[in-house]
Amino acid sequence: MTSKQQKEELLKKDEKYLWHAMKKYNPEGTMIAQKAEGVWITDIDGNRYLDGQAGLWCVNVGYGRDELADAAAKQLREMPYYPLTQSHIPGIQLSEKLNQWLDDDYVIFFSNSGSEANETAFKIARQYYQQIGKANKTKFISRYRSYHGNSFATLAAGGQNQRAYKYEPLTPGFVHVSPPDCYRSPFSDEKDRCCILAANEIDKTITWEISDTVAGIIMEPIITGGGILIPHNSYFERVSEICDKHDVLLICDEVINGFGRTGKPFGFMHYNLKPDIITMAKGLTSGYLPLAATAVKREIYEAFQDAENDYSHFRHINTFGGSPASCTVAIRNLEIMEQEKLIENSAKLGEKLYEALLTLKDHPYVGDIRGGKGLLLGIEFVKDKETKEPNEVFAAQVVSRCKEKGVIIGKTSDTVPGYNNIVTMSPPLSITQDELQLLIHTIVDVVYH
Ligand code: PMP
Repeated sequence: MTSKQQKEELLKKDEKYLWHAMKKYNPEGTMIAQKAEGVWITDIDGNRYLDGQAGLWCVNVGYGRDELADAAAKQLREMPYYPLTQSHIPGIQLSEKLNQWLDDDYVIFFSNSGSEANETAFKIARQYYQQIGKANKTKFISRYRSYHGNSFATLAAGGQNQRAYKYEPLTPGFVHVSPPDCYRSPFSDEKDRCCILAANEIDKTITWEISDTVAGIIMEPIITGGGILIPHNSYFERVSEICDKHDVLLICDEVINGFGRTGKPFGFMHYNLKPDIITMAKGLTSGYLPLAATAVKREIYEAFQDAENDYSHFRHINTFGGSPASCTVAIRNLEIMEQEKLIENSAKLGEKLYEALLTLKDHPYVGDIRGGKGLLLGIEFVKDKETKEPNEVFAAQVVSRCKEKGVIIGKTSDTVPGYNNIVTMSPPLSITQDELQLLIHTIVDVVYH
């Protein structure tokens, strides 16, 4: 391992040259990660950590997969780059494979990040309505507490306003509604009822906005970064009806939900939904190379194919989107998930994680525990179970004490005022039973001692 002196030098350079995302939330100081294998990260001092966050919710097949490194290297030698203004074999093969995973008929536009995939979705939705003679349909509905990316339009879509307000004015045309948060619902304490009423707010909002001006609704099926909010089936039954009633496109943000995280190939599959547009990134390559995709229902794509009108095509270009090596890695990554039945593992071990952590429910600071849909879990800490006052300090302590014990878990940040009291878990889907036991044991131990 690196000597103490070398480490100090690296940290000095890091401090001087590197502008980190969210550094403020690193009270223990910067960890310089050096190696990774399976669910384990090793830092520069040789300390090993179980990565209960899969990086940023993305390393679905786990670290250290030689097959992915080899697939990338082979493709980089054969043809490192060619744009998808024309075509290439890995791009064609991956778009076919994504259709198999989606189990329906979608046309795929590639980009590099979740933010770009969502930006692409907004542009497609707006242009689609222009093409079919409904040019007033330009607005989007989204939920408070959601996150959809870091660009001007995706920040406007997101409902985490501390991330946005320093960059205003953002892209206009985004209208927010309440998320289906049944623990703190302004509508009802009953889950089914809370969800129906939360969805009804969308119906009312679209009516108030005038449905002729609304193009789409963007939603993660399960809200992740906003605190793991898992809606009841009734929520999406209503959302589907509302989309049909108002002729509004449903855009599912599957950037985290997708590729097995929720125990199904995509989060929308829990709810029998037929999204018009689906955006994906992260788990698509398990983070090994950057790649994102916007999958668009064929009927929408067809509206862009008017041979008589030069302005009907999608005037959108992306230099690196769908690069051959990224597509090759994505194909291998999806094959690994299929061969190793990682989605089934996510569903099965996700249940175990949820059941095991439900034992924390009697702890005086544990307000709510949300999980049971894949390897995705949130624990909301409160100061008092009656008042539900958020206990941010305790949540932060749980995260740092887990880290001291060699387990990395996540936490909602202060980007949603009043909601940085929720710890989150999303380990690689390749986690073993024993590793999961270690994760469970560490959290239970830390919460109780
Ligand atoms: N959508 C969701 C639900 C996300 O969680 C994220 C990133 N955490 C994004 C979009 C944006 O993805 P990226 O950081 O790749 O732009």
